Amino acid sequence: MKLEAYARTDLGPVREHNEDAFHVDVDAGIFIVADGMGGHASGEVASAMAVEAIREILSGRADPDETRLERAAPDTEEAMRERLRYATNQSSQRIRRAAIENPAHTGMGTTVCVLLIEEEVAHLAHVGDSRIYLYRDQRLQRLTRDHTVVQQEVDAGRLTPKLARIVPHKNILTQSVGYHGSVEPDTSTRPIRPGDIFVICSDGLTDPLDDERIAQLCAQGPVDELAELLTSSALSAGADDNITVVVVAVSDE
Ligand code: CA
Repeated sequence: MKLEAYARTDLGPVREHNEDAFHVDVDAGIFIVADGMGGHASGEVASAMAVEAIREILSGRADPDETRLERAAPDTEEAMRERLRYATNQSSQRIRRAAIENPAHTGMGTTVCVLLIEEEVAHLAHVGDSRIYLYRDQRLQRLTRDHTVVQQEVDAGRLTPKLARIVPHKNILTQSVGYHGSVEPDTSTRPIRPGDIFVICSDGLTDPLDDERIAQLCAQGPVDELAELLTSSALSAGADDNITVVVVAVSDE
């Protein structure tokens, strides 16, 4: 499969710092979005550290013994998901150590979404409320389930998805990388097809735009303009946060 990727990040009209970070490596098939949090600019430290650690570990440049991939193993897909869990937890421990060493960074943390594409499959891992969507056959599917208190309330039937979008505590996370020392990322593997479009984004996109609106925008534009279209639409819909969008398009060789 051939991959193309487009990324856009925007400070938004309110924040002084962009605490989002992203990484795009088409050749390695590695795509990451992280949305940091914490006072005194430490959010951007956490998100940048997470992206760097995960990128390093997945590309095998750190901890060679731990990250060596047994490609001949029969359970390669499970091995990949294990590697994603390992990379996420390593990044969490690095951020936590940095916060302990520098009290100005106490309590910093970050969300993480990783999309790793290998030949015919995509491996996903995430912690927090940044999301990965798949747009396929004119349909948008959300592939990640937010690690938020509100999502738990929706799952338990105490809150409707519509109300969940407007309650004041909608952004409280049940786990985040760095703030919680060890984390349990959700991981999955799915086959990919030519025509698939993955959208990885921070909540700066999904707070102002609901899934229906994101689907309409995916249907609208050429894929090379989609990241820009989504970002500008979030801004005109009243975004008050940093916005980050990574678009990955799959096609035939
Ligand atoms: Ca955010």
